[in-house]
Amino acid sequence: MRRRSKKIYLGKIAVGGDSPITVQSMTNTKTADVSATIKQINKLTKLGCEIIRVAVPDLETAVKLVEIKRKIKIPLIADIHFDYKLALEAIRQGVDGLRLNPGNIGQVEKIKEIVLNAKDAGIPIRIGVNSGSIERSLLNKYGGPTAEGMVESALKHIHILEANNFDDIVISLKSTDIMMTITAYELMAEKVDYPFHVGITEAGTLWSGTIKSAVGLGSLLSRGYGDTIRVSLTGDPVEEVRVGWQILKSLGIRKKGVEIISCPTCGRTEIDLISLAEKVEKLFSDLDKDITIAVMGCAVNGPGEAKEADIGIAGGRGEGLIFKKGKVLKKVPEDKLISELEEEIKKI
Ligand code: SF4
Repeated sequence: MRRRSKKIYLGKIAVGGDSPITVQSMTNTKTADVSATIKQINKLTKLGCEIIRVAVPDLETAVKLVEIKRKIKIPLIADIHFDYKLALEAIRQGVDGLRLNPGNIGQVEKIKEIVLNAKDAGIPIRIGVNSGSIERSLLNKYGGPTAEGMVESALKHIHILEANNFDDIVISLKSTDIMMTITAYELMAEKVDYPFHVGITEAGTLWSGTIKSAVGLGSLLSRGYGDTIRVSLTGDPVEEVRVGWQILKSLGIRKKGVEIISCPTCGRTEIDLISLAEKVEKLFSDLDKDITIAVMGCAVNGPGEAKEADIGIAGGRGEGLIFKKGKVLKKVPEDKLISELEEEIKKI
């Protein structure tokens, strides 16, 4: 069961409570390159990115946020480290949220100013503690990076905001160690009801990072932890969004577009199923229809094994079947399988 959490708003997008678990990402363009950043955000939005974060390393970047904000359709989060002036400028520029750890800002007066301005603007702050950014005193206390250390560090930041009467908070506790991440969220869930942004940090490259993120996020979400997710991959953020959605779809948490299922092939396969499945995935995976397409390797078992699918193809020797909910619609020559499938999908 999903953990009960407080609902907050990033622009029009709700996070926490009973709101849908959202997919977010972070740009990897130079944020100050406004047109490249807008282009990337809009591409990600098309693929299903619902919240976007951009790095704000300096004032030159901060003053351009409004230009980005104007040309995108999803909430914009400014990622700020250390410099309170950047946070104030980002708020002035109209961002929808901040990612900032108040304990890193230093002076109490500066934190107060950020909090007052964020409150006025009605924007939340995400406190994000990574195992690699735990303060030295906690590393010494716990003998290295631990879940307990991450939680204690995050609680310190939370208490600073709460002491300033600010509770529009999202929390993330990320490690590249999956079990440490799970324990950290479990411990934090006992302490507060703020929504959780979940992810496995520095997960790796596309192949290994996808698996690690799927295992980590799958474990967290199946335990009920997570109100918004970010997959971290060393690669194009487009892949982060795709993988994020695939994780939510795999768990049956959300539906979006086409789900493609395909059989693992066996000695009965009489068709080049691997390339056929790849072709189908390439052609239809970004289609805006909530349907399941099956690609099966034999006519004998294929339609039956994939009877839950809305539409499917099963390959035979030189020909194949098109089937719907397990019932065969027609037999077609192998080279017509894809075009006939396309025609049938149009009718759905
Ligand atoms: Fe084998 Fe046919 Fe099942 Fe594919 S659908 S795994 S080819 S029996």
